[in-house]
Amino acid sequence: MAVRSFQARLLYLLIAVLVLLEAGTLISVHVAGQRTLRQTVDGELQVGARVLDRILDTRARQLSESLRVLALDFPFRQAVAGADVSTVTSVLENHGSRIAADAVVLISLDGMVTADTLGGRMVGRPFPFEQMMRLAEERGEASSTVTFANRPYQFVIVPVLAPQRIAWVCAGFAIDERVLADVSRITSLELSIWSGTPNAPAERISTLPAEARNDAAYATRLRPLQTGDQSHIYTLLQRSLAEAQAPFVALELQIFGLSLALLLLAVLAAVIFARTVSRPLRVLADGAGRIERGDYVSTVVVDQQDEIGQLAGAFNQMQSAIAAREAQIIHQSTHDALTGLPNRTLFLQRVAESIAASRRIGPLGPSVGMIMMDVDRFKDINDTLGHHFGDQLLIDIGRRLSQSMSMSDTVARFGGDEFAVKFTAPTDGEATELAARVAAVFDAPFALGEVSIDVNASLGIALFPQHAADADTLMKRADIAMYDAKKNQSGSAVYEPGRDEHSLRRLSLMMELRQAIARDELQLYFQPKIDVLTERVVHVEALVRWNHSRHGVMRPDEFIPLAEQAGKIGLITKWVIRNAIAQCAAWRRDGIDLNVAVNLSALDLFDSELPTFISGLLADAGLPAAKLMLEITESAIMKDAAYAQRILADLKRRGVCLAIDDFGTGYSSLAHLKRLPVDELKIDKSFVLNLTESATDDMVIVRSTIELGHNMGLTVIAEGVETADAWRILKRLGCDMGQGYYMSPPLPVDKFNAWLAESRWGTG
Ligand code: C2E
Ligand code: CA
Ligand code: CA
Repeated sequence: MAVRSFQARLLYLLIAVLVLLEAGTLISVHVAGQRTLRQTVDGELQVGARVLDRILDTRARQLSESLRVLALDFPFRQAVAGADVSTVTSVLENHGSRIAADAVVLISLDGMVTADTLGGRMVGRPFPFEQMMRLAEERGEASSTVTFANRPYQFVIVPVLAPQRIAWVCAGFAIDERVLADVSRITSLELSIWSGTPNAPAERISTLPAEARNDAAYATRLRPLQTGDQSHIYTLLQRSLAEAQAPFVALELQIFGLSLALLLLAVLAAVIFARTVSRPLRVLADGAGRIERGDYVSTVVVDQQDEIGQLAGAFNQMQSAIAAREAQIIHQSTHDALTGLPNRTLFLQRVAESIAASRRIGPLGPSVGMIMMDVDRFKDINDTLGHHFGDQLLIDIGRRLSQSMSMSDTVARFGGDEFAVKFTAPTDGEATELAARVAAVFDAPFALGEVSIDVNASLGIALFPQHAADADTLMKRADIAMYDAKKNQSGSAVYEPGRDEHSLRRLSLMMELRQAIARDELQLYFQPKIDVLTERVVHVEALVRWNHSRHGVMRPDEFIPLAEQAGKIGLITKWVIRNAIAQCAAWRRDGIDLNVAVNLSALDLFDSELPTFISGLLADAGLPAAKLMLEITESAIMKDAAYAQRILADLKRRGVCLAIDDFGTGYSSLAHLKRLPVDELKIDKSFVLNLTESATDDMVIVRSTIELGHNMGLTVIAEGVETADAWRILKRLGCDMGQGYYMSPPLPVDKFNAWLAESRWGTG
């Protein structure tokens, strides 16, 4: 569209310029023609006037000549001398008709008419044209144009000599149509002549018919003739404009025709030119349209070496650059930047394709398997060994997975430490085999530089059509299976129908969390920490429970991670701290001196308001800060060590005690530990639960942790003490405190108070 209008505009412009040019030429030709025509006609009229003069002159001379010859004629002279009027008259008539005179008059020397050819009309009167007569007497003869009988005449007077002058003879010749016709023939003018006597209406003699005489289509020139009497004689010269114009009109027509032909030629040329300019433009526009539709393969072809050709070249280059960039963008949008593996989007697309392919085959189509995979404790590895190490590990895992699968399978990374594998297997047996092959990828340790590390992963497996009918559901179910594998620490799990309920429960629990506090559904349980030397309770750990209306008493492992995910952990932490401090103050009022410990989540260490909040509560309760101990897991501190450290330092400054919980399960470095402002190390229960004299591994860990803690000036406590054996060993190893079912499980406050009063570990 744009191209067409461009072409049209170009064309209109060119044609407009040409038409203007042609019109200008024609107008100036016409104007010049008209000017020339006027000049020509003027010239013709002037010449015509001179010709008329010359002809009248010549005629007068001829008439004089003829009359002189007549006057010399002997019989004529004899007749004149004889003075016989009738004879003279007939002689005058004879001779007059010989020279074709219209009137002949004989005049005596005293100026009286003695005879005429007009039937004696003038006889006995003086000759009427005195001026002429005087001229004749002066010069011997005279000729003149006069008005006679109301018409223009040429009169000639010569003397009759015998040999003296005896009389004058005068001849008159009417200036009639013939004379005018002669002039007209020579000059191609129309002529009229008339006498303009004031009192007599003039009879006009003309070469034109009466009705054409006043026509505007003539150029005219009025000219008075010199007369030999008092009368006025006018000549009118007329030039037919139509006639004079004819050659000009022909010329103009010729020029117009030529111009028209040239204009047509020029328009044709302009059309062709506009096409040659706009055709490649249209080719380019079409090319741009193709690119818009995503076709980067066809190039534009413009066989021109000029700017447009160069433009086409640049256009093609641009197109391939766009194609390359788009391919890059598509790759980026469908692949993971770190490992180069397909991302979630592409993976789901491939799964959907495989499912569609299997469906086309029908009931006998192959199973489409999906494995969701999560690297166990990747966060710890990443935090401890550094992001570079973590990245390298992910790349290696991706590489191993890709190598273990066939080309038609897809290995993808979903971000973080989540991977997914898609495969097709004709039978369930083969699917299991494939899943085992994927799991086996983690059998060998991963070597990264100097370090070699064992990595485990949790795999969740789901199959189409057994477990789900579409890609999205298949992924959800593989995810549920993975969650199961992680929870059971079983390495891998196949989706079990009905497990969706579980994730629904997770979801609804998340929604109910906030109300849990409002509805007062949270409750604190207390578990004593027993001093090894005095075997008496000195501290209690506050452990939260959720008394759910439908699910009953829920352990924190079930809802703390949900609260963290839902961003509600801060609410729970504050509730627990408030109630733990309140309980501690209540015991104090009752004379029971117990320190209380509260667990912090990793996310709490990002709440910079927390230290102020705690100080405020302690002050309100009138408790010394050292009565409160906060337990933080190793990995929580390592999450953002610098930030966590600032909060911990703040808390420490306020006098609150700090413990490292679950010690031994993380990867914290000693150097790092040293810088932490902690007071207590809490050996993780996994090392204590099975602590016996024969369990050398656990023994080594527990002993070295106690020594390490003491060397760093920290109190060391062991959790998970379930047996008297374990209690004895801890005592022997010099552990400061113990906590576990052997002494007491976590108890609600009333039961705990009863325990306090009755138990041998109690205060009583
Ligand atoms: P934890 O801090 O390691 O707490 C000790 C856990 O070990 C408690 O589980 C306790 O019931 C259990 N336990 C105590 N003695 C023994 C024993 O002899 N044998 C065995 N097998 N287990 C024993 P509980 O109460 O279910 O708490 C689980 C975890 O939930 C806690 O681990 C703690 O990390 C977290 N947690 C509990 N309350 C809170 C809380 O108020 N805030 C936060 N952020 N986390 C909490
Ligand atoms: Ca704890
Ligand atoms: Ca613990």
